Formats: sequence, C-alpha cells, structure tokens
Amino acid sequence: MDFQTKLENYAELVLRLGVNLQQNQTLMINAPTEALEFVRVVAKKAYGLGAKDIHINWADEVLTRLKYEHAPLETLTTVPQWQIDRQNYFAEDGAAVLSIKQSNPDMLKGIDPGRISAANKASGEAFKNFRNYTMNDRITWCVASVPGEAWARKVFPDATSGEEAIEKLWEQIFTITRADQEDPIAVWNDHNQTLAKVRDFMNKKNFKKLIYKAPGTDLELELPEGHIWKGGSTPTEGGVPFNANIPTEEVFTMPNKYGVNGTVRNTKPLNYGGNVIDNFSLTFKDGQVVDFQAEEGYESLKHLLETDEGSSRLGEVALVPHESPISQSGLIFYNTLYDENASCHLALGKAYPTSIKGGSKMNDDELDQHGVNNSLAHVDFMMGSAELDIDGVTQDGKVEPVFRNGTWAMEF
Ligand code: ZN
Ligand code: ZN
Repeated sequence: MDFQTKLENYAELVLRLGVNLQQNQTLMINAPTEALEFVRVVAKKAYGLGAKDIHINWADEVLTRLKYEHAPLETLTTVPQWQIDRQNYFAEDGAAVLSIKQSNPDMLKGIDPGRISAANKASGEAFKNFRNYTMNDRITWCVASVPGEAWARKVFPDATSGEEAIEKLWEQIFTITRADQEDPIAVWNDHNQTLAKVRDFMNKKNFKKLIYKAPGTDLELELPEGHIWKGGSTPTEGGVPFNANIPTEEVFTMPNKYGVNGTVRNTKPLNYGGNVIDNFSLTFKDGQVVDFQAEEGYESLKHLLETDEGSSRLGEVALVPHESPISQSGLIFYNTLYDENASCHLALGKAYPTSIKGGSKMNDDELDQHGVNNSLAHVDFMMGSAELDIDGVTQDGKVEPVFRNGTWAMEF
C-alpha cells in the first residue's frame, strides 16, 4: 500500500471513527504547523463528509519555545478572553474537535519549570468550561498524532536524516493505528468490540479494590461505588459514538480519590509538556502523594504535583496488556498517546466524571463525596511492565488474579 493511501485511510479513521463527523457539523482542528499536509487531506475529506465549516488552531513548536524563552511571565499566564470565547463558541456550536499532537519531549528543555507550570495552570483555568464539554462527552473529540522532525528524531535517534526519521515514525503510526490495513474501519469496529467485551467483563466483576505488585510498586487502589469501566468507542450525551484516542488499547475507570495507598514506580519516561520526567516513584496515603522521587525531571514533577489540591491525587486507572501492538514495536514514543496505550497507566489529576454512575450530572461537592478527583491537571503516566501482577478484590472480599506478568489473567 502506498504512502498516500495510508494517509487517506488515517484521515478517514480520525474523521469517521475518531470524531465521527456528522453532516452539517463544524470541525475544529488543533494542529502543529508540521501537520499541514495531513490537515489538508483531513479537511478535504471532512468537506466530503458534509462538514459545515473547518476551523484550525495552528501551533508551532519553535514559536512556542520562543514565547517561553522571551515573553514576560504575565503574557504566559494570561489567556486572552477571545481565545477562551473561541473555544466556548465551538463547543456550544456542537463542533467536533480533532487534536493533532506532536510530541517533541525536549521542546521546553532548559526552560524554568516554574514558568511552564504557571502557564499550564493559567490555560487549565481558562479552558475549564471547554474541558467540561470534552471530559463529560458532550461533544465528540479525538486525539491523534502526526510526526514532526524533532519528535521523530527522538524516537529514531539512529536515523541518518530528519526525513528518514519522519518516514519511520509514519510507518509506526500507520501500523499501530491500523491505517495500513485494507479496510481499517472494519478492523477498528472489531477492535472496539474486543475492548467492549473487556470493559463489560470488568463492570460485571465490579471489583472493590485493585492491588498492584511489581518491582518498586506496591499499591492498593479502591474503586468507588458505581465506578464504570470504559474502553474503545463511547457515545456522547446525545448518543453519537466516537473514539477519543486513536490509537487506543486501554480500558479505564477512576480510583476513589481518597482510597489510594502505597508506592508506584513508573516504567516509561513521561513527556510532561515538553520536558521528560523519568525513573520516578510516588507514595500515596489516603489518596494523596505524601512522598516522591525522580531521577530525571524532579522539578517538573514537583510543579505538577503542586498545581492544585487535586494534582497530587489520582483520577484514572487504566489497564493495557503488555503485549499490545504498541509495546510490540519495542519503541519509546515520548508521547503519552502512544506510550499509555502500550502500558498500564494511572493519571494524576482530574477524573472523567463519566467514570462513575451519574457523574456528569453531579456538582463539584457531589463529585468529591463520591471520590471523584478534580484538578486543572490530567496527566497519565506509565507503570505497566511484563513484571506487573494485579489482583482484584471482589465486593465480598474474594481475591482474584486480574493481571499476571503484565497481561490479563482472566478469560473474557
Ligand atoms: Zn488512559
Ligand atoms: Zn488519561
């Protein structure tokens, strides 16, 4: 299959399976400038599917870095009202939102982590309302990735040129997203069904607690009453099915924000907003991080944990078998969208309110009473490996193996 066909397949996937674009709907795309070629392919297809309008928010890694280097702190921490209004306008209009992520883990290397975290916090505050639309599945949204040179070179440091690295990364993306298959939509429908089976099984099990054991990890995680496992395709409030991540290999729910105890060690580097955090561990008591270490990116981790009260608690628990197609690539992507789908992971920060029965109708106090974490942050980190064992504790106190040696110990 030639490159152009795979690119068209990929565009079709993000539009039809990802945001599931409907006739007469507006499409908003967040994209890096290096994705221009792909965005043009997507736009053409989107109009073909009946898009009413397409709006693109461009970003550029070089320009972003220049801003962090030179702009006054006040500029970094002030989000102009028109930008907030723009996002809200598209959400209220019921637009589909496609976010194309590039992922140069060194984009902000050397920049004062205090400046980065202040800027993250400001944008977290500014786009709170917009985030409620996505995190409550009020609109369809999808995150996908397109190679950029800096990112591709980080994944393939031995490539002889930027071009070669980009080509290699595209090949990986096409394989992992199944865009290189004859009928990717059909393959994805099967894949969504497999994930639905696992999700339904976990919902039926309704475990009260998960216990994780791996080198450096000894963690107990309570699952709140009414928690819901999700995975693959989910419907919006209005009933339109969509896939929020392409690729996706996980089933996930939320832990009780007050019910996490023990220590967890990461297994893959975390690219947190243009800086790498690695070889770190977090120790929890009653849901809160009370101690942490990091060999790399300690300051970044510290700032993340100090973002607000909820950023030192967990908002997501996700299970991914170690033999997922992404793990099989043997690569580290320094891109959470890819790395999290190769590995069991947890997220610091906000929980998806849809991970608990009635959650999207609860106010902040009710969410808190149900153990649903709230924060400006939501940062997934990878802690799965071939050495991870997980036990589930049933409501009546029976202990059952859920994962052994990094993969499912249960039959679905
Ligand atoms: Zn996840
Ligand atoms: Zn997440």
